Amino acid sequence: MYAFTLERPANVADAAKLVAAGGKVLAGGQTLLASMKLRLSAPEQLVDLGGIKELVGIKKEGNAFVIGAMTRHLDVGSHAEVKAAFPALAWLADHIGDRQVRAMGTIGGSIANNDPAACYPSAVLASGATIVTSKREIAADDFFLGLFTTALEEGELITAIRFPIPKRAAYEKLRQKASNFPLVGVFVTQGDSGVRVAVTGAGNGVFRHKGLEDALAKSFSPEAAAGVKIDSSDLNSDLHASAAYRANLINVLTQRAVKKALA
Ligand SMILES: Cc1cc2nc3c(=O)[nH]c(=O)nc-3n(C[C@H](O)[C@H](O)[C@H](O)COP(=O)(O)OP(=O)(O)OC[C@H]3O[C@@H](n4cnc5c(N)ncnc54)[C@H](O)[C@@H]3O)c2cc1C
Repeated sequence: MYAFTLERPANVADAAKLVAAGGKVLAGGQTLLASMKLRLSAPEQLVDLGGIKELVGIKKEGNAFVIGAMTRHLDVGSHAEVKAAFPALAWLADHIGDRQVRAMGTIGGSIANNDPAACYPSAVLASGATIVTSKREIAADDFFLGLFTTALEEGELITAIRFPIPKRAAYEKLRQKASNFPLVGVFVTQGDSGVRVAVTGAGNGVFRHKGLEDALAKSFSPEAAAGVKIDSSDLNSDLHASAAYRANLINVLTQRAVKKALA
């Protein structure tokens, strides 16, 4: 590790000022510290959000859960109200990485990082969630812009994510054994605004699949998903899986997710 300064602000306003002046946000450090050790990132100042109480916790507001950006995966996965009302979200959080990653990793860090194989972006996009920042609110459809890229501006902090609670939802993934990240993951919701299907791990970033959404809007059944042909031309091909394999996984995992959502 190399020399850097560390600030521990006690509130969002002070954190936002430090970040606007060039500081780099530190959440659970699960991605950032590893990339600093590898010299892929070399911030001169870290702004640790760990002391800001207002960023931690889960509130139910009407038919939505508002989850603070510094809430750890472990706390979402074990939250009794989330488990009862939105079990797919709790299951997703409870199946991220390993226990250490879940104890330290945060929802805000996951969303801000927008790893193309991360689990949370698929839940945010499939739920039509809203990302609340230190400056504004951003709809999930406008937030994820591609590989490790989001609509966040310089100096902008995620403070919370607001998830409308769907009528039905489920998340299915196939883990890539070496990293534990999903090779492909599919999050399906059925709610007031219809059916939404978000895919992670297969492309340049999380994306919605219109063909699956249209088929499931007509008939919310595994058979309807099975009938959708997945175009592999824009999907990733690497040493772990070909694009054709990932296309097949999208179809199979969607069928499993719909079956689980109906159970
Ligand atoms: C071994 C391993 C396995 C993993 N497996 C999975 C998996 O299966 N599924 C999965 O989804 N994820 C997985 N992860 C990722 C993990 O869940 C973390 O969410 C992710 O690494 C981000 O970590 P963090 O929250 O500690 O954020 P940090 O590493 O502290 O920050 C990540 C980035 O986000 C920025 N940032 C953090 N918080 C904010 C904020 N509030 N506002 C603005 N910017 C912010 C930081 O500046 C940094 O650029 C894995 C990680 C590891 C190390």
